[in-house]
Amino acid sequence: MTPPDSSLNAARRARDLAALAAGEVVDVLVVGLGATGAGVALDAASRGLSVAAVDAHDLAFGTSRWSSKLVHGGLRYLASGQLGVAHESAVERGVLMARTAPHLVRALPFVLPLTPLVSGSAATLSMAGVRAGDLLRLSAHTRRAVLPRPRRLSAVETLRLVPALRSYGLRGGILSWDGQLADDARLVTAIARTAAAHGARIITRCRAAALYGDGADVRDELTGAEHVIRARAVINATGVWAGGLADGIRLRPSRGTHLVLRADTLGVPLAGLHLPIPGTTGRFALVLPQDDGRVYVGLTDEPADGPVPDVPRPTEAEIGFLLDVVDSALEVPVRRADVVGAFAGLRPLLDGPGGRTADLSRRHAVLTGRNGVVTVVGGKLTTYRRMAQDAVDAAIEGRGLPAGPCRTTRLPLVGAAPELGRLTAPPRLVRRYGAEATAVAALAAADPSLAEPVTPGSATIGAELVWAVLHEGALDESDLLDRRTRVGLVSTDRQAALPAARRALAHLPTATGPR
Ligand SMILES: Cc1cc2nc3c(=O)[nH]c(=O)nc-3n(C[C@H](O)[C@H](O)[C@H](O)COP(=O)(O)OP(=O)(O)OC[C@H]3O[C@@H](n4cnc5c(N)ncnc54)[C@H](O)[C@@H]3O)c2cc1C
Repeated sequence: MTPPDSSLNAARRARDLAALAAGEVVDVLVVGLGATGAGVALDAASRGLSVAAVDAHDLAFGTSRWSSKLVHGGLRYLASGQLGVAHESAVERGVLMARTAPHLVRALPFVLPLTPLVSGSAATLSMAGVRAGDLLRLSAHTRRAVLPRPRRLSAVETLRLVPALRSYGLRGGILSWDGQLADDARLVTAIARTAAAHGARIITRCRAAALYGDGADVRDELTGAEHVIRARAVINATGVWAGGLADGIRLRPSRGTHLVLRADTLGVPLAGLHLPIPGTTGRFALVLPQDDGRVYVGLTDEPADGPVPDVPRPTEAEIGFLLDVVDSALEVPVRRADVVGAFAGLRPLLDGPGGRTADLSRRHAVLTGRNGVVTVVGGKLTTYRRMAQDAVDAAIEGRGLPAGPCRTTRLPLVGAAPELGRLTAPPRLVRRYGAEATAVAALAAADPSLAEPVTPGSATIGAELVWAVLHEGALDESDLLDRRTRVGLVSTDRQAALPAARRALAHLPTATGPR
């Protein structure tokens, strides 16, 4: 038998679902394909277990695509005394940056500008904070070559990195480093495809209606057909939706909003910013430059009680709040009309005793229900691997599955490879596809129309869309524009890119062969 490859596409989905519907029993059924569920599928499959993983929508449909796209070292948890969470974050950041996904995570410099809003004592405290963050890096054995040393910057150096900062009263800055993802949804795609390479059946558009200790009732969202999937263990990784599938799980989602701006609106910053939120101590907004000519500004933390929407929407009040924070520090005025997009995500926080959602612990939880279903929830993108390990350990123990030890700290994700700098492919493609960048570039070389941007001025080219259809499980325009690429974060760009997406979908493979 030839080993399964990592390519996901419509034909493989159809075959995998048909096998499960015909009664195949898998060791582990994973429900939810965000970072956590994809991580669970990879962890279990790489231990030698047979795995099926389903999502009601698509890879990274939920919170995992609405994050700040940081792989962070947990400094803020240190500040709130959650030492264990901080250390775990720093360790997982090191695993991603140095071993499993160096192509997807880069070191991003951050500047905390010492404006008149930051008192002398606050500056001293912040400097001590970033030094503590550097100790976290050290304790996690992440090399300085991966994350450089924090240091004090002069006002001139600060303005060189972020020219749009207001120079009046600027005393300098504090430079620190953290991990930044090329894109969060791409991380999920890479994890899911790596799981597929280990034999996991990855099935999108497949909604679980009810979970049992030995399987689930599911519905194929493409055809409406209902099936039972049988499994020796079931793991619920549905994030903010977890409470709907498991008894006794209470979540208190909190909404986080980001703005999308064109980089030139902010003078093309070369570093991220920690911007003090006026009137608070120790709370910062983030300015996050991306490599596609956009900058994200985030982030809010608002309780989001009530029914959980498929796609959360930012409120005008949140947008106004973020604009005010930016305005407090920049020379250039940033107006509502400069906001070309905005997105919001719901943090899957477990309900705790009292307290605002901002104060709830960010530690993850693994809970086994009376029916034997294991739920894994909370945590963050950065710690998905550890969450997955803990969930699979619980399933193995609870259901007596024969499996080897966890291997994922040393398992490179699809695209990871040493010496990526030597690839003869455009650097932007290498940052998003790693070693596969040459294959994406080859599509463009074979058909020059695929070398064209999907919209005028866009960094995304047509070859990326075709690649997503052939190898990354994209089934429709939304998969292409809203998750495999992030063109859709700006609605005018999304509209303009629809024809390119439709052309790419003509490459959809069918169960009987390419169309
Ligand atoms: C605004 C914001 C910023 C953040 N920034 C960061 C950051 O910079 N770094 C970081 O490390 N963390 C960050 N986080 C936290 C992180 O994004 C989340 O903890 C993480 O993405 C949660 O992933 P998940 O897989 O558990 O959930 P999700 O990504 O929500 O995945 C759940 C999946 O389950 C599926 N599903 C739901 N119901 C069903 C069903 N019945 N059947 C089948 N499938 C179903 C959904 O379609 C979805 O794809 C941020 C969170 C927010 C909200």
